[in-house]
Amino acid sequence: MPSLFIGHGSPMNAIEKNDYTRTIGLLGRRIPKPSATVCISAHWLSAGTWVTHMKAPKTIHDFYGFPKALHDVQYPAPGSPAVAELIQSLIQSSSIQLDDHSWGLDHGTWSVLTHLYPEADVPVVQLSIDMAEPPSFHFELGRHLRALRDEGVLILGSGNIVHNLRQLSREPDAPPVDWALEFDDWVKRHIEKRDFLPLQTDFLATAAGRLSVPTPDHYLPLLYALGASETSDTLRFEHEGIQNGSISMRCVSFGLD
Ligand code: ZN
Repeated sequence: MPSLFIGHGSPMNAIEKNDYTRTIGLLGRRIPKPSATVCISAHWLSAGTWVTHMKAPKTIHDFYGFPKALHDVQYPAPGSPAVAELIQSLIQSSSIQLDDHSWGLDHGTWSVLTHLYPEADVPVVQLSIDMAEPPSFHFELGRHLRALRDEGVLILGSGNIVHNLRQLSREPDAPPVDWALEFDDWVKRHIEKRDFLPLQTDFLATAAGRLSVPTPDHYLPLLYALGASETSDTLRFEHEGIQNGSISMRCVSFGLD
């Protein structure tokens, strides 16, 4: 199974049809059907690391001010308590807690999966992001998750490499701003070289980086996908582009020909 990072952008991508959503739809057809998906979404931030452990995770509409059609979306994929427990046993370096009641599937997860697996027939667990931990911690958790790929489990990081809501244009097709292009390209070049350390240590070293990652929530899911990659994996940039002037929609796959 591949390790993926998907830029999810606006929640509206869940119900819209554009080049990006078509790419994600085609991507789903190129991947052999997984036994489960583990999603690390930018929208589940926590104290400690948690994994959803319920059999039927609820669809969470964690946004405001969007059309009713978006609030009506349900993504009724089953959970996988077995995969949640497997993750808990794989990651011995820190304690992973099982969540039976609190979370479910947030829009960082279902806005992507609704295109990747529209039938909602692949079990999904979400792994939370412990915001107290440094970037290297998240990369290392990705390393641990790598073993799941051999068990037929898809690793899916869902965030955005460049994500600054204060600098956002309301216009989806607004021309990209320079700093967004600069930082997106900096990340791309390091991924191409498989030079993952600067992506953990230096992403705030430039003005472009600080504007692109004003808070780390949307950036950190990338580190899980990188951590779960193998040197021998084929690397592909499945989608590139900037929405709303400053949201990088770059998507990366490792291990997919
Ligand atoms: Zn988001």
